[in-house]
Amino acid sequence: MAKVALITGGMGGIGTSICKALADAGYTVVTTYSKPGKEVEWLASGKEAGYSFHAYQCDVTDFDECVALAGRITADVGPVDVLVNNAGITRDASFKKLDKVNWDAVIKTNLDSVFNVTKQFVDGMTERGWGRVINISSINGQKGQFGQTNYSAAKAGMHGFTMALAQEVARKGVTVNTISPGYIATDMVMAVPEDVRNKIIAGIPVNRLGKPEEIAALVAYMASDLAGFMTGANVAINGGQHTC
Ligand code: NDP
Repeated sequence: MAKVALITGGMGGIGTSICKALADAGYTVVTTYSKPGKEVEWLASGKEAGYSFHAYQCDVTDFDECVALAGRITADVGPVDVLVNNAGITRDASFKKLDKVNWDAVIKTNLDSVFNVTKQFVDGMTERGWGRVINISSINGQKGQFGQTNYSAAKAGMHGFTMALAQEVARKGVTVNTISPGYIATDMVMAVPEDVRNKIIAGIPVNRLGKPEEIAALVAYMASDLAGFMTGANVAINGGQHTC
């Protein structure tokens, strides 16, 4: 039977490519969305392209919704073997202007969600002796970014989580890794004003934004059997931007 992969926020720019790459690699693909309505068109366009994805509504900031999600996926599709914690938001403001609402929203969506969702599935992975947890972080969790104390803190926190959990589950056949993408051509980045975006591109040695498929290919590798020796890693994929 095909292994099951769950991608949170899989209807976004990077998430859609991850769903396709894992389906192409033979996984049964399940995703979540928080805003109802968008799933109808997304599922239909996936079907047109030959994919049959499963989709569930779940706000990943809400622990109880994640408990319910796990019950539904396990009953409908089967136990989850690969979890990609991909859901994320930005709410940028200089620290002087950053308020508690936007601090909390970003920490809850990017970091608390990793606890909320991983908690539902990792015990099953260790019991079955195989699993993959892949956390989509960001270059800005590695180097910081003006206007993103909230996002940089959450994304750096994801990797702390990765390193610790990787040690706890390594002997049970489960790997836990972080991917830290640089700037990728998705709505999140295309929403940045053009002049700012051009400055961003000028600072990328390969002189272009990354493509979602380039992140998805790395996810597919990390999800594979061949990646069993990679755990606790934080893999940068950013067009050559320096990170320390
Ligand atoms: P998108 O905005 O396209 O996708 C984000 C996804 O997260 C959406 O599908 C959204 O679903 C989901 N999401 C947001 N809040 C919640 C919530 N509370 N519960 C459930 N799902 C939620 O972003 P990208 O595809 O660009 O980004 C994907 C990941 O990659 C993010 O974690 C981002 O931080 C990271 N990243 C992106 C980079 C880029 O350049 N684009 C660079 C580095 C990292 P819905 O709309 O239904 O809420």
